[in-house]
Amino acid sequence: MIVVATERFAEHQTPPGHPESPERATVMDAVADEWRQAGGDVVAPGSATFDQLARVHDEGYLRRIAGTAGKAAKLDPDTYTSPESVEIAHLAAGAAIDAVEHVVRGSHRRGLALVRPPGHHAEADRAMGYCLYNNAAVAVAHAKTIGVPKVAILDYDVHHGNGTQHIFVSDPDVLYVSLHQSPYYPGTGDVGEVGRGAGAGFTVNLPLEVGAVDEDYRVAFSEVVLPIVRQFRPNLVVLSAGFDAHERDPIAGMRVTTGGFAAMTMDLLNVAEECCAGRLMAVTEGGYDLRAFGDCLRQVVRVFGSHGGGTAEWPTAGAIAPTRGRAAAQAARSALGRFWSF
Ligand SMILES: [Zn+2]
Repeated sequence: MIVVATERFAEHQTPPGHPESPERATVMDAVADEWRQAGGDVVAPGSATFDQLARVHDEGYLRRIAGTAGKAAKLDPDTYTSPESVEIAHLAAGAAIDAVEHVVRGSHRRGLALVRPPGHHAEADRAMGYCLYNNAAVAVAHAKTIGVPKVAILDYDVHHGNGTQHIFVSDPDVLYVSLHQSPYYPGTGDVGEVGRGAGAGFTVNLPLEVGAVDEDYRVAFSEVVLPIVRQFRPNLVVLSAGFDAHERDPIAGMRVTTGGFAAMTMDLLNVAEECCAGRLMAVTEGGYDLRAFGDCLRQVVRVFGSHGGGTAEWPTAGAIAPTRGRAAAQAARSALGRFWSF
């Protein structure tokens, strides 16, 4: 496993009190340092080029963002730049590309890009929801240019990854799977959004009611996520690793534990082992409780650094019945039953 990280991610400043704070970079640095001290590989990212970003973003949008270099700007109601932000956002997308490079070229089977700003809300032509460039989408587009035929993206951030979904909505070679709180920001990700044209069936949404616990996610994984990813048979798995569904998170209302995130990550690793020799890369998204963010990242490092083949150890089911997970799984199976067998 290789970690792509740099202390420079602290240079993207957001207004005081903003959840996507520079302190998140300090947490990422600590996690990267621990991996280095354990003998793991940690490398600094290169900067994504205009052409690499233009595979998923409109050129006009890229020029507009470039125009904010050296300035503090407000790009949408909750997305801000500081003078350094454009340069740092290029490093975030570059880190995702570098992680893909290592995993696809075979120097490592797993890659983890520890980045900010996050990416999954960024649309082809619009900054949104703390995101400037869609790091995961840039990584997937890069994988395709270096010969990876099919990529599965799993997004367990508590918010729907509207940008990622829209960028690949018509692409049958990119499977996008999202579990998210609903109704909630950004408002997209209805179970009926299944992809368009040739991409019909390759968008999978599992909207979960507020309050979902580990067991809800376990049901959604075992009944929908894993069967679909197995049938899709990706050549690479990309994880949009947001941890704001954590029970400690200050902005969302889910109750996933650190152990739940570890189990989801292990389930994903195992399906990557089955489908694509364990080729799996993750890029960070949200996660706004600093302690939970660090704990969950350490679990991703532990799982990614393992040899795979272990069984996901889901936390023991508690007193709360997984009604949210069952409802989401049932709705998804009915919306997607003409594309996949369950
Ligand atoms: Zn989020």
